[in-house]
Amino acid sequence: MKEQRRVRLVDLQAQYRSIKPEIDRAVLDVLESGQFVLGPEVRQFEEEFAAYCRTRHAVGVNSGTSALHLACLAAGIGPGDEVITTAFTFVATIAAILYTGARPVLVDVEPATLTIDPSLIEAKMTPRTRAIVPVHLFGHPAAVDDITAIASRHGVMVIEDAAQAHGAEYRGRRAGSMGQLACFSFYPGKNLGAYGEGGAVTTNDEELARRIRMLRDWGCEQKYRHDLKGFNYRLDAIQGAILRVKLRHLDAWTEARRRLARAYRELLAPSGIELPIERDECRHVYHIYAVRSAERSALAAALTADRIETGIHYPIPVHQQPAYADLGYHRGDFPVAERAAETILSLPMYAELSPADQERVARSIQRGARNPVA
Ligand SMILES: *Cc1c(COP(=O)(O)O)cnc(C)c1O
Repeated sequence: MKEQRRVRLVDLQAQYRSIKPEIDRAVLDVLESGQFVLGPEVRQFEEEFAAYCRTRHAVGVNSGTSALHLACLAAGIGPGDEVITTAFTFVATIAAILYTGARPVLVDVEPATLTIDPSLIEAKMTPRTRAIVPVHLFGHPAAVDDITAIASRHGVMVIEDAAQAHGAEYRGRRAGSMGQLACFSFYPGKNLGAYGEGGAVTTNDEELARRIRMLRDWGCEQKYRHDLKGFNYRLDAIQGAILRVKLRHLDAWTEARRRLARAYRELLAPSGIELPIERDECRHVYHIYAVRSAERSALAAALTADRIETGIHYPIPVHQQPAYADLGYHRGDFPVAERAAETILSLPMYAELSPADQERVARSIQRGARNPVA
């Protein structure tokens, strides 16, 4: 039998091919300009991205991790403070809190969305709590209204980790505009991805934006006068120019992801595996299309045998990561996150995924689900 073509989990080359002339032009213009770090391309991207998120300010930085670090610092978080966040996220969320000297306090997730469970937050509040960091995991917004109600009752900030949620919405509000501060990543595989590293902080607060602008560039507003102990977290101009081009396509790509999610819902309904949900008040942007199955390894093996790539986001919850053992958590502390880590499987999801390839994924899953010991 003829070897089938591989179906990729994400295909960044397909996206590049679809916008190559625009991207190449934008990169060459930066090379001609001689302005390689910050500068007009970054400034214009910041304006356009703020408008996209419906916030007053966006500050470009060199990664999503840097965005989280600076958002925490600008919020005044430091040693002795506690920051409440989710046990089921990429480790950067926790790492950035630790960079400030504060302690991450973890909370289990809601079974339906795998975002932080608001009903468990209040019990974790102490006089040292300074902020709540919800993660809009896989592109589905966390339960923002419940979270902000708790935060304002206790006088603490909400800092969104929107690294996976460009364009996601909750009751008509955009990810990035719902907390005092929000953090985005433009890592290549994210829904809005640079061709290298990048990130941004969004906020409506002029003073927080000013502090983040200073902190990303050595604490300066004036050259060689360092008012704050800052960092080299600047966004480079080539990434700024690339992100400007890609931002113009983001809504079309998001609509394609949403169409694919609807098609998966129909194609996979008979398989009996658990599919991701979209709450009525939310717009899911499907950064990751994660199904759940007690027979995950058999399912993944069936897909691999059919030359279809899959992923696991994430196989180990943060509280069970060896590097963060010193946080003092143990197996059993966050049962919903732990169960998710054992059952979750990411399927191919990107705007250029063809209907034929998507049907191949669905057929493979039907076979895998029917023969769980295969
Ligand atoms: C990608 C990601 C980050 C980190 O972003 P980088 O740009 O890789 O530093 C943080 N949080 C979440 C939830 C992410 O998915």
